[in-house]
Amino acid sequence: MADIGAERQTRAQAVAARLWNSRWLLAAGIVAVLAVYGFAGMSAYVVLAALALLLAAALLPSGATRHSAEDAAAIEASGLQRLSGEYLAAAVADPLIIFDRTSTIVHANAAAFAAFGGIAPGMSLSLKFRAPEMQALLDDLLSGKVASDVVDYTEKLPVERAYRVSASSVGHATDLYVLVFKDQSEARRIDRMRADFIANASHELRTPLASISGFIETLRGPARGDPAARDQFLQIMQNQTGRMARLIDDLLSLSRLEMKPYLKPGTEVDLRQTIDSVIDSLGPLARETAVVIERDFVEGPLEVPGDRDELFQVFENLLENACKYGQSGGRVTVSIARTETGPEAGIDVTIRDYGPGIPEEHIPRITERFYRVDVENSRTQKGTGLGLSIVKHILTRHNARLSIKSEVGKGAAFSVHLPAR
Ligand code: ADP
Repeated sequence: MADIGAERQTRAQAVAARLWNSRWLLAAGIVAVLAVYGFAGMSAYVVLAALALLLAAALLPSGATRHSAEDAAAIEASGLQRLSGEYLAAAVADPLIIFDRTSTIVHANAAAFAAFGGIAPGMSLSLKFRAPEMQALLDDLLSGKVASDVVDYTEKLPVERAYRVSASSVGHATDLYVLVFKDQSEARRIDRMRADFIANASHELRTPLASISGFIETLRGPARGDPAARDQFLQIMQNQTGRMARLIDDLLSLSRLEMKPYLKPGTEVDLRQTIDSVIDSLGPLARETAVVIERDFVEGPLEVPGDRDELFQVFENLLENACKYGQSGGRVTVSIARTETGPEAGIDVTIRDYGPGIPEEHIPRITERFYRVDVENSRTQKGTGLGLSIVKHILTRHNARLSIKSEVGKGAAFSVHLPAR
């Protein structure tokens, strides 16, 4: 009884599903029949017969659906027959090695040959990968203890690479197994960079904080009744809070840039006007450092696609550095030139100072976060060590390029190439 009940229920569900699938067809049919009935004055019997026919058509299982399911199965079967393991392995971008019960390599794809020099079919896998984690993985798999497993493995030579290796048996009773190596080196590098960044930022904030806390202690203790010491210490404490505020502003700037998904398209920036405003805003610093800012702008319109506020920040950072670190040169030139044709078409803005310059070995690392040539000098100049990394971040978003040239004793030139469109 229960079986018959269940069968009835299943059939009812199938009919309901078919009616639901054909709801639009049914609705259209009913409307059409009623319309014709209304126009032609047909008898009610004819209308009922037409509706019954429509219902039957909707309830019949669809031949097309049946056919397409069979066709799909046939296509899949014939496709798999033509597919060889070798082609499949070649199509996998990660290193992949197929091996047998004796841990002998049966096949390796091109990515595996490129990643692990000196492997070949017939070679023992346990001899090639001697690290304990790889040996344990192979033992567990070949002894049947596990059907698949994943381990982290680091290849030391020729360069260190970190892999997540997944191993599993292939099919049923084939006596074959497969290893796939997913390269995790880039993800690990990014994790390390993040950890370093947090450590550096905390250290940069902790130093002024420690100094403020030390002065508070002195003011409450030995310097309690000394007005001259109090004034001096309060000034230092104010400088330190300023340093913390600048650091937090730069950190927020970087994080905002990282969160912005992409540059809003379609906005144009007038570089002549933007750079003029940067020079005006840095007038007080130029006076303070006794630096004369000279302009050398090409004639004509100087527009590039981009974000005005972000490009303002780029040139403000570069010009501020030139005035601070290159002040001994007494002058800074800001030039704008245009490249009209070719793949390099665009606008070049160069900020050149005539100060001490930057030793060659520092140039490749100078845009890294918190990298400074001279930490003490950067601190006295109210630097945070983040200015050039913000510059680089913004320029990457603009498809632009920063090049740095310097000769020690003669100054430094920071050139920004902004593509035309
Ligand atoms: P900071 O906040 O320390 O100025 P930046 O990222 O702007 O950080 O610059 C990194 C370092 O690069 C500076 O600390 C300084 O040592 C060096 N630097 C930048 N611009 C110049 C320049 N025009 N001349 C000499 N050194 C420079």
